[in-house]
Amino acid sequence: MRKPIVGLTGGIGSGKSTVAQLFAAHGVPCIDSDVVAHQLTAAGGAAMAEIRAAFGERVLDEHGALNRAAMRELVFAKPAERLRLESILHPMIREECLRQLERVSGPYVLLAVPLLFETPAFRTLVNRSLVVDCPEETQQQRVMARSGLAAVQVAAIIAAQMPRQQRLQLADDVIHNAGELADLALQVDEKHRYYLACFGLPAPA
Ligand code: ADP
Repeated sequence: MRKPIVGLTGGIGSGKSTVAQLFAAHGVPCIDSDVVAHQLTAAGGAAMAEIRAAFGERVLDEHGALNRAAMRELVFAKPAERLRLESILHPMIREECLRQLERVSGPYVLLAVPLLFETPAFRTLVNRSLVVDCPEETQQQRVMARSGLAAVQVAAIIAAQMPRQQRLQLADDVIHNAGELADLALQVDEKHRYYLACFGLPAPA
C-alpha cells in the first residue's frame, strides 16, 4: 500500500521549504514537484523527446534541455500551448513523483506542489493538503530579501498566484508563518503528531 501523502503548498516566500526542513527533522521526507519538473526537462530528461516532437528545436537550448525563456515566450504568444505543454509534463511529473515517493522512507511523505489546487493531477494524489500561510507583506519582504527582486516584481508574482483567501478556503490544514521560526517549529511538531494519528500510524516514542 502507498504511504500517505500530504500536499504542501502556499504562495511564494510563505515558508514551504522551511516547513519541509522542519518535517524532515521528524523523519518525514519531501518530494518537490518543481525539482522533478527540472529533472524531466534537463538535457536528456525523460520529457524532452516528447517536448521536442511537439514544439520543435526552438524551445531547446544548446544542450538539448528545455529553454525556459523560449517556452515562456511561446506560451505568452499562444496561451493554448501552455495546455499542450502541461498535458505532456503533468502526467510525467506525477508518475516520477510517485516513483520517488516509493523510494523514500518515512511514516508518510510531503509532496511540495506550488500549484497544488490548480493542478488536478496532484490534487487527486494527496491525502491531505497543508497550506503555509502568511500576510502578503511578509511574503514580499522575505522574497525581496532572498532574491534581490524589486518590490514591483515580487508584487506581480504574488498577484499572478491564487489569492490568499481562496487558498485558505481550499486547505485541509494550515500552518501560520507570520511569526518567529520557533513558533513555526512548534506548529510543525503539532501537525506531525496530528498526521500520525490521522493516518493511523504509531506516535513517536
Ligand atoms: P517558499 O519555499 O514558500 O518560497 P521559504 O521557506 O524559502 O519559502 O522562505 C522564504 C524566505 O523566508 C527564506 O529565506 C526563509 O529562510 C525565510 N523565512 C521563512 N519563514 C520564516 C520565519 N518564520 N521567520 C523568518 N524568516 C523566515
